Amino acid sequence: MNLTNINTVREILSRHGFNFSKGLGQNFIINPDICPKIAENGNARSGYGVLEIGTGIGVLTKELALRADKVSAIEIDKRLMPVLAETLADFDNIKIYNEDVMKADLRKIISDDFKGLKTAVCANLPYYITSPVIMMLLENNLPVESITVMVQKEAAQRLCAEVGTRESGAITVGVNYYGTAKQLFSVSHGSFMPSPNVDSAVIRIDIDKKYNLNEEQEKFFFRMVKSGFSQRRKTLANAMSSLMGFSKNDVYSALQSLDISESVRMEALKMEQLIQLAIKFTEGYL
Ligand code: SAM
Repeated sequence: MNLTNINTVREILSRHGFNFSKGLGQNFIINPDICPKIAENGNARSGYGVLEIGTGIGVLTKELALRADKVSAIEIDKRLMPVLAETLADFDNIKIYNEDVMKADLRKIISDDFKGLKTAVCANLPYYITSPVIMMLLENNLPVESITVMVQKEAAQRLCAEVGTRESGAITVGVNYYGTAKQLFSVSHGSFMPSPNVDSAVIRIDIDKKYNLNEEQEKFFFRMVKSGFSQRRKTLANAMSSLMGFSKNDVYSALQSLDISESVRMEALKMEQLIQLAIKFTEGYL
């Protein structure tokens, strides 16, 4: 069954009485070049179990299952279950979970389903929860090697920006803390059904936790980053005093001890400086 043939897709969906939910970010891939490319760039190969988020009618699921040993996929929309039973009927290495990915026990799914395998995540993410899903995957420290996802182009730019530049944001720092993100290729909006207003891009995050903060430092690091970016036009000292209750003088002396200007804004700080700052504060300024 060719799941990138528009007529085939229309026929299956109408037979099952399915109509697209905008709220669930349902834009299915119909360009035949895209799914093989995501699978090949996303570690879908022998020795791997792939966790997919949001199957739609299974167009990517199928390409993943052709290459990886196993695929476990989470799909929230129960109307798609009978569709998937039909479109993926030829595969015996796919398991579908009809759940909300934000509530699913992913650690258990990985340990139950991928015994003896490495794990990769691949997905064409629903746009309304791109950042929460990515941060949830990273923050839970799941045993995952890479996360390869299609996201809206603007989100891709933010996720893959260099920390310390105008394009960066709290999510950029979050991703950098846990891994290294790279934009792989762009996908035009005409590659989807229905076609969204904006283009997309596929990115891969290789998980390589490079910074060794303890729990307290890590917690502080993320609080500081969130407050600094939520008031990104303010200086860091102003943001930290208004949102975290620090005296400006404490912030100034921490900045001085690291040779950083007192008037710095969060967006201008490099990753290493942010890490050092979190260590300084948890050492003596809390
Ligand atoms: N992978 C398919 C494709 O590329 O054609 C579908 C991608 S579509 C952009 C996103 C999918 O995620 C939809 O099938 C949608 O129902 C599902 N979805 C939305 N929110 C979800 C959630 N919270 N948990 C699991 N799946 C979700």
